[in-house]
Amino acid sequence: MLRSLGQVCFSGFLLVLLAGNSDGYQQFLSSSIFRALPQLITSQGGLSHANNIPFVNKEHDVYDDGLFSPLEDLSILSEAEFTHMSHPAFPHYGVRIKKTSFCDNSVKSYTGYIDIEARHLFFYFFESRNDPDKDDVIFWTTGGKNIHSQKYHYTLCPFRSRMLFVSGSIHGAWYDAIISDANGTKYFPESWNSNANVFFVDQPVGVGYSYAEYGEVVGTTEDAAKDIAAFVAIFFENFSKFKGRAFHMSGESYGGRYIPLFASEVYDQNARLIQAGLTPINLTSIIIGNGWTDPPSMVLSYFDMQCTAASVAPVIDIASCVRMKQVLPRCEKWVKESCTDLYDAMNCYAALQFCGAELAEPFAATGKNVYDISKDCEGEPGDLCYPVTAHITAYLNSTATRALLGVDPSVRSPYTLCSQPVALAFDATHDRERPGTPFHVAALLERGVRVLIYVGTYDWICNWVGNERWTRALEWSGREEFASQELRVWEVGVDSTSRKRAGRTRSARGLTFATVEGAGHMVPYDKPEEALALINRWIAGEELSPPYFGRFSTRCEIDATSMITANVADLSDKIFDFVIIGGGTSGLTLAARLSEDPSVTVAVLEAGENTIGDPKIAIPGQFGLTLGDPKYDWSFMTTKQKHSNNKELMWSRGKGLGGTSNLNFFVWIKPPAVDVDAFEKLGNPGWNWENFYHYSKKAETFHRPGKELTDLFPHIYDVDARGTSGPIQYTIPAHVHTVDAMLQKTFSNVGIKVLDDPYRGDINGTFIASSNIDPRTWTRSNAATGYLLPIQDRSNLTVLTEAFVSRIVFADNSDDQDLVATGVEFTQQGNKNTVNARKEVILSAGAIKDPQILEHSGVGRPEVLSKIGIEMQIDLPGVGENLQDHPFFTISYELDPSVKHPTLDSLKDPENAKEALRLHAEGKGLLRTGISSFTYLPLSMVKTPGAATLREKIEQEIEELKNTSGIAPGQREQLDIQLETLRSDKSPDFQFLPWPALFPMSSVTPGPGKAYMSLLGFLNHPLSRGTIHATTNDPLDNPELDPNYFEKDSDLELLVESFKYLRHLAATEPFKSGIVGAELEPGPECKTDEQIRDYIKNTVSTAWHGVGTCSMLPRDKQGVVDPQLKVYGTKNLRVVDISIVPLHIAAHTQVTAYVIGEKAADIIKSAYNTIP
Ligand SMILES: Cc1cc2nc3c(=O)[nH]c(=O)nc-3n(C[C@H](O)[C@H](O)[C@H](O)COP(=O)(O)OP(=O)(O)OC[C@H]3O[C@@H](n4cnc5c(N)ncnc54)[C@H](O)[C@@H]3O)c2cc1C
Repeated sequence: MLRSLGQVCFSGFLLVLLAGNSDGYQQFLSSSIFRALPQLITSQGGLSHANNIPFVNKEHDVYDDGLFSPLEDLSILSEAEFTHMSHPAFPHYGVRIKKTSFCDNSVKSYTGYIDIEARHLFFYFFESRNDPDKDDVIFWTTGGKNIHSQKYHYTLCPFRSRMLFVSGSIHGAWYDAIISDANGTKYFPESWNSNANVFFVDQPVGVGYSYAEYGEVVGTTEDAAKDIAAFVAIFFENFSKFKGRAFHMSGESYGGRYIPLFASEVYDQNARLIQAGLTPINLTSIIIGNGWTDPPSMVLSYFDMQCTAASVAPVIDIASCVRMKQVLPRCEKWVKESCTDLYDAMNCYAALQFCGAELAEPFAATGKNVYDISKDCEGEPGDLCYPVTAHITAYLNSTATRALLGVDPSVRSPYTLCSQPVALAFDATHDRERPGTPFHVAALLERGVRVLIYVGTYDWICNWVGNERWTRALEWSGREEFASQELRVWEVGVDSTSRKRAGRTRSARGLTFATVEGAGHMVPYDKPEEALALINRWIAGEELSPPYFGRFSTRCEIDATSMITANVADLSDKIFDFVIIGGGTSGLTLAARLSEDPSVTVAVLEAGENTIGDPKIAIPGQFGLTLGDPKYDWSFMTTKQKHSNNKELMWSRGKGLGGTSNLNFFVWIKPPAVDVDAFEKLGNPGWNWENFYHYSKKAETFHRPGKELTDLFPHIYDVDARGTSGPIQYTIPAHVHTVDAMLQKTFSNVGIKVLDDPYRGDINGTFIASSNIDPRTWTRSNAATGYLLPIQDRSNLTVLTEAFVSRIVFADNSDDQDLVATGVEFTQQGNKNTVNARKEVILSAGAIKDPQILEHSGVGRPEVLSKIGIEMQIDLPGVGENLQDHPFFTISYELDPSVKHPTLDSLKDPENAKEALRLHAEGKGLLRTGISSFTYLPLSMVKTPGAATLREKIEQEIEELKNTSGIAPGQREQLDIQLETLRSDKSPDFQFLPWPALFPMSSVTPGPGKAYMSLLGFLNHPLSRGTIHATTNDPLDNPELDPNYFEKDSDLELLVESFKYLRHLAATEPFKSGIVGAELEPGPECKTDEQIRDYIKNTVSTAWHGVGTCSMLPRDKQGVVDPQLKVYGTKNLRVVDISIVPLHIAAHTQVTAYVIGEKAADIIKSAYNTIP
């Protein structure tokens, strides 16, 4: 007897809202908002025995001992009649299946029934359009109850405009075809079976073509889960070609309640399958679209949807919103107490009834579509706001369709959209407001089942605000990481012309939340392209919004040729809005940001090659490997340093896309706030810590380190201080922390403050720093991979490599106005070319090449230009002056061999190096090493006998310098700040770090099998100033580079004092017992101050942090650029890179270079009123 196929027309709220009908509204009040949601009905029959599936026990040998022969091949099925499948492990279950030509003839499709004794669930199965033998399997179901029919039609069936009637079997149609009228289906290109085999199950019993033979009762989702799990097992057992295939369970709307429970049952059933000798189901993920997963979050979010601009502009009147606002706290409290904290079915029901009515009543009066707040409700009440439902019903009621599908002849009731009896019966179970569904989601996540929650932003009834709230509040081990992320944009489209914004997303450790903008309750119907992109990326395991291009699908599988660069013909004599000289750290940051506006064109000229993907660059732990190699490194040499025993130093700088971010040592450090605020004090409004902090977070995405690290260093980061969606990926590297821990503890033992996060503007103390290494691939994340690769397809961005810029071209300047840069002259393969700039030329060639390019363009000090025979265009004496660097010394030790210190020394053995590379490919091993332990100290904390008197001496030297008659303009102001810094302790004077090996520049020969550590001591705020100038008019000659180390005595004396301080640390535990033997370098014989001075002078190294050669200072203070980074005397030439830093900072310089690129982009965008 069929009782469940009656009309399920749900009595209340939804229908009323859809109709915008005030009588109906009364009806709504008398029922509940929850009645709007699809529900579940099952018949009495299978519920009790479903809990006792008699899996064959191991004791009884294997399950199919003569009892079971799988069907194996779907192609043997008949189209005319059903084939019956069963399995001895599930004696109460059977499956009827037949082939069908319904919908899409380009794939094989099947329909049938899952028979659970007297209950029969109808299903469709569509093979993948791509590769059915390899592609994943997706299970799809959706809500029931009133929405059932309309719901899945709209959701699943991709009908479109002009009253198309989807069909392809509604559900099936969604995957395969659309029906353009009541007579037939039409191919639907965005079907979800494009890359997957897809099921649709028509459940619960009582809706669609599913039926029960005896009196049905309202069941629960928990009960239905058992039926679905059994069906899934029977299917995979019978069709063994799908066995072990990745399996995803998905659903929309009330599917938000079903799917977590269904998947949990499948997961738990696996244990029993294994016990019975069967193959477990490879449950890989669950996917919920516009889901009703957490009723409290959903109901309370109705306020946001109606009264704020969370979706569209507020849709109801202020008076109603104020009333709601006043009701909200009561509702939050009541719902929390009765539904969440301690579930009380009646009380929770009452709370949600009351709050639902209060919060939804005004919306009902608007006549808007509950499924799409941007639209009014259309059609007749029974159409549920979508008039096309009439066609759907007609098509499904046709005899021909039913015959094609194999609808059981005993299903005699007409196909209808609503069933009042189901709705009423369902209320009794309180299934809709039952809490705990999110707990199932959390449990699945903990077991490695990925979870995708997507939501159309126009949906009101199961809206994005509520879904975002519960996903962020979800309690699971990845909560903090997930919740701390900002939403970031995801896009669809294959290239820059087709690329468009699809929505926003956040993702961590298997949980992804995504909005689909402009879609309502039925995302695949409203936004088919976006929906397909979403599902394809998800099943492929790709990030929806890869922070970098996502090309490293496996570790270090980086395709060097993947970055397509331009040909010279694409630039020569062409015009671009912006021409950027130098594709380095700041230059690529700027190029990426400027080209975000598709209406502007950007060209980048980089002298080096496209080295993206080169393992010498990409794989960490190989410090210094590229230094001195002309392919990667400019390898500039300094002049003989007259205050440093005539020592000449090599100043490495990166050549190639990415610039120096290709060969730096990954240290990610932000300066102290006072150092950045000093820029502002020197005459640069807006260049302060607040803005620096903002732009640095914009540039970065922090990845939390693993538990082994947080156990070792308990308070090492504060997620609130870290960026979560920027292009540069960074983390605390995984190795070698025996040395780091030793030093951190030693500093702490001598009273140095341990910082819990060094990225908030205070780095005074000792801390564990991060590195710009992407822990997902353990590869370098830099300007090239982070900023450029993701946008390489932008048609408005042209990047030319091996293009050596010789000079900037200016327009004739007859009227003595500021100069206008019209382009850039460059050579490629020996040929001279010009590229033209419509708006601006931007110099980003780094602190060493910038002055030379300016001078060759006639901008600089008159005496420099006249010496090289270049006609002066702009008299700008600051060019190439004010050079400051961080010099450092090293002290080396051998480490205690009884402790296993996995230092980089072992890589000197070629066999170990080879093994390390092999391990790295598996995401393991020593090549994940970064530099982690840092200590920044002011002079006052350096407790040596000479430190106190030294301070007085430096103060005196500074005062004397200030009073020197020939002092360069601007120096006095800088010295004032340096004096303040010295006295205030807010900005540290020194930096110390342990190098987990002998430092590459050490003269000690390492012994085989031994482990070493070099301590490095840096000077942060040198008083000495150097210069960089062109000395010939040949652009290919390197400029003369004179850092003038130790020009001022104070610099050397400070290093001497810090040297003695570090040595004295070696007597403190655990450092003391962590080393063996005497100090290796310089060794105990280096004792007196004079000897130490000499050692430092002979061995001094550069930290490669040269800044200041195009200082951002007032013009009369020897500034080269103004606060907008515009070169004085020009209308449209800017400098954007580390050279603009006017006064050195206590930090490594790469973060600052990214910040300069980011800030410059906003300055330039606002100058042209382009998108911010
Ligand atoms: C060995 C080394 C280790 C370092 N380690 C760290 C570290 O661990 N942490 C940290 O914070 N900082 C570190 N730094 C410093 C930091 O990386 C740099 O300060 C920063 O990357 C500079 O960025 P930039 O944009 O100013 O210049 P760059 O990134 O050098 O960009 C300049 C670009 O312009 C190109 N170019 C130059 N001349 C021309 C021309 N004539 N025509 C066309 N193109 C041209 C160059 O090839 C280059 O690509 C390190 C530097 C070095 C050298």
